[in-house]
Amino acid sequence: MASPRIGSWIKIPKERLQQLIDTLASDGYRVVGPRIRDGAIILDDLTDIRQLPAGVVDEQDGGHYRLREDPTAGWFDFVVGPQSLKPFVLPPREPLLQLQRTSETWQTETPEIDDRPVAVLGLRGCDLHALSIMDRVFLEGPYVDPRYEKRRASLFLIGVHCRRAAPTCFCHSLKTGPALPAGFDLGLSELEEHFLLEVGSRRGAAVAARLQGEEPASGEITRARMATRALEQRMHDRPLHGDRRTAGRWLETDHLRDRLLGNLEHPRWSEVAERCLACANCTMVCPTCFCTTVEEVSDLSGDSVTRMRRWESCFTWEHSYTTAGPVHPTTQSRYRQWLTHKLASWHDQFGTSGCVGCGRCITWCPVGIDLTEEVAALGNEVPHA
Ligand code: SF4
Ligand code: SF4
Repeated sequence: MASPRIGSWIKIPKERLQQLIDTLASDGYRVVGPRIRDGAIILDDLTDIRQLPAGVVDEQDGGHYRLREDPTAGWFDFVVGPQSLKPFVLPPREPLLQLQRTSETWQTETPEIDDRPVAVLGLRGCDLHALSIMDRVFLEGPYVDPRYEKRRASLFLIGVHCRRAAPTCFCHSLKTGPALPAGFDLGLSELEEHFLLEVGSRRGAAVAARLQGEEPASGEITRARMATRALEQRMHDRPLHGDRRTAGRWLETDHLRDRLLGNLEHPRWSEVAERCLACANCTMVCPTCFCTTVEEVSDLSGDSVTRMRRWESCFTWEHSYTTAGPVHPTTQSRYRQWLTHKLASWHDQFGTSGCVGCGRCITWCPVGIDLTEEVAALGNEVPHA
């Protein structure tokens, strides 16, 4: 067949995914993809297609995550696990500066960024949307973060069009899934015996050219698209029929910013605060929560000091601490700060919602707090000023 170009599709037998992994590895990429560890699907080094969780699906709900085998499942019919792309562009902890005391003075050294190119297999529509939100924050504002920029430039992204949603997914209501948006290098759709790969970039075309793919047969591209459209329809119908088990949740986005910012004194904030543990899990798993703090850590002798950047959360007491004390001293004000930033003031700051509807914060909240439920409890009316 002719050389693949951007927007074209190739068909490969499922086992040929091994060749994709090998090709990327021979080009110098660290290849990561979905693997099972400690009962969850995470992104980790992938060298062999037998490491993929084929035939496994995830059960997710508020505070609930379990994996189970499903003989009808394909290779990618699980959805998102606790981990997103965030750690690959913004590591949970990283050294920014190293200081060493000498007899006379202090020597400083800036640690190198580990910028080995990383190819990530198995990303969903919500993941790619989340990355574009992180790009706005770290690359498109007045200050460009050089460490994020270097890691971001070396990513090779292989997305998957979803055929199945978890009950916690609500990408459809935010228009961030279940189909992949632009921004992938290769986009994968699963049929019974084959994968279809859509070429999304020149880098993707160069890799696809080495996979000896075939031209998809007549109707196969439509069949692949229909599987994702059918899921989209089920997600759309779900709020009408109320079946939470298989087709996701719903977030009503009409006037959402004004409904939230107009309800800052609503009694629901104190009700949710009675359940919230302020554990910060929701912000750790969220693919767009980007807060970090910087701290200096010394060794026991005090001769060596490392300045570390690490993830921080608006649920901690320290996050809003000023010389006059914390601006958000209570769990109520911290939960309200998180939700109103994510779904309302994020629009003012970055021109987009801070939420992509991945549902991770619902699944990994130990007490099952569900932001779609919290927003619904505030009501659909925009209060008059
Ligand atoms: S909402 Fe849930 S995950 Fe988030 S801080 Fe509260 S208890 Fe923890
Ligand atoms: S707020 Fe929750 S559903 Fe929205 S992107 Fe973050 S983790 Fe996903």
